[in-house]
Amino acid sequence: MSSTTPMTPIPLSRKPAGQDLTGPRTACIRTFGCQMNVHDSDRIRRMIQDAGYAEVQRYEDADLVILNTCYVRENAVDRVRGHLGELGRLRREGRVKRVALTGCIGAAQESAALKRTYDIDLVLGTHNTYELAEFVGLPTMRETYTPELPGTEGEHNAFVTIMTGCNYQCSYCIVPTVRGRMICRPMEGVIGEIERLVAGGTEYITLLGQTVDAWRYEGKRFCDLLEAVSQIAPRVWFTTSHPSNMEDRTLRVIGERDTIVERLHLPVQSGSDRMLKVMHRGYKAERYRRKIEVFREAAPDGTLSTDIIVGHPGETEEDHEKTLELVEDCAFDSAYIFKFSPRRGTEAATMPGAVPDAIVQRRFLEVLRQIERNAFQRNQRKVGDVEEIYIRHGSTEDGKAIGETWSGHAVHVRTDAAPGTYVKARIESAGPHVLYAGEPSR
Ligand code: SAM
Ligand code: SF4
Repeated sequence: MSSTTPMTPIPLSRKPAGQDLTGPRTACIRTFGCQMNVHDSDRIRRMIQDAGYAEVQRYEDADLVILNTCYVRENAVDRVRGHLGELGRLRREGRVKRVALTGCIGAAQESAALKRTYDIDLVLGTHNTYELAEFVGLPTMRETYTPELPGTEGEHNAFVTIMTGCNYQCSYCIVPTVRGRMICRPMEGVIGEIERLVAGGTEYITLLGQTVDAWRYEGKRFCDLLEAVSQIAPRVWFTTSHPSNMEDRTLRVIGERDTIVERLHLPVQSGSDRMLKVMHRGYKAERYRRKIEVFREAAPDGTLSTDIIVGHPGETEEDHEKTLELVEDCAFDSAYIFKFSPRRGTEAATMPGAVPDAIVQRRFLEVLRQIERNAFQRNQRKVGDVEEIYIRHGSTEDGKAIGETWSGHAVHVRTDAAPGTYVKARIESAGPHVLYAGEPSR
């Protein structure tokens, strides 16, 4: 995934020592990876604005390019290499002056080699982002740009980080290495930030963390925080959850509170107990199924998504069959299916029993088809319903906006309503990934 948010250029606000400010300086931020990275880019955006940079969308218009990166799978690194190659060319032509690499690749071992090969000016991990502030000319950043720093205000939706890092050690995962151990933000900090966002017009709050449901602080648990947030924010969602931390009462609260979107993202990774053990996931397939039963009972109309890895070292045909069984039983509404990608420094990278590419590809397609079949069937049930739809992205050239129902379904709807507002419309048809609504009634 790549994402950038268009911004209006702002005038220079401050004059950092020793810098030539005769013309407006420009910066381009490219984001790769998950919502955590999108949120980190929001913080970076604030820094460069404070330093007097105008944000631009094209590399060739930028004095400074910041690549905020993801390291979870190898193809993410390959994509970043491609961008670094292009930036090298633009630098030789004198069109880009400086390049900074931040985020998860910056925190990984490979970053030193990338810095040398592509002559990158600054490489930063996920814990020392404040150094970027110094790089762009802002003083005393250690105090200002900490994990407590809120994201962009004044948008209709906002991500709010409630915890960083992860205390699990899943065999395949680089996150604990590049993001460190779990740190939970204090409840008052989170609530205060959300109150400010809502007062500033934010409609939709997404609570973020690698294992968001593991959040705890001074005797409070995630469910307490979610309940409190659901009383302040008009619309709330959270991601990503870990099955071992997901409490039944949290699942019930999703169904009980009108302001919580009834969409649960609960990564299972595999349906085989043997593989779940190899992966150190800390639960069995049966426990996962039981959680899903509680969710379906609490929010019968809600949507359920998951992450599945195919081709982890040692995965047999029998393990794969078990994953297909679980997919059938849970009837997911969508899933992110990943082919195993060895990450240097993780346990799985040196495990025996590599699965040949052709088999991984076949298993990937089998899981995908089953997910799509289930999702298509479930989506058909929505046809004919009249839904209140939250507009997430305004209408594009073809006149269709992208919205979301309270059940968490994505909907295409023909309207010019602004992002952050609601319309009511009847669902006229459905595919495996999205619902299609008719003309809104208001
Ligand atoms: N914390 C979440 C959890 O516990 O499920 C997931 C966070 S991880 C950044 C997002 C997803 O990437 C994982 O759920 C997993 O499916 C996938 N993933 C992580 N490492 C991977 C690897 N080495 N190869 C393939 N997929 C991987
Ligand atoms: Fe990675 Fe596992 Fe932590 Fe999720 S729980 S971030 S998959 S180590």
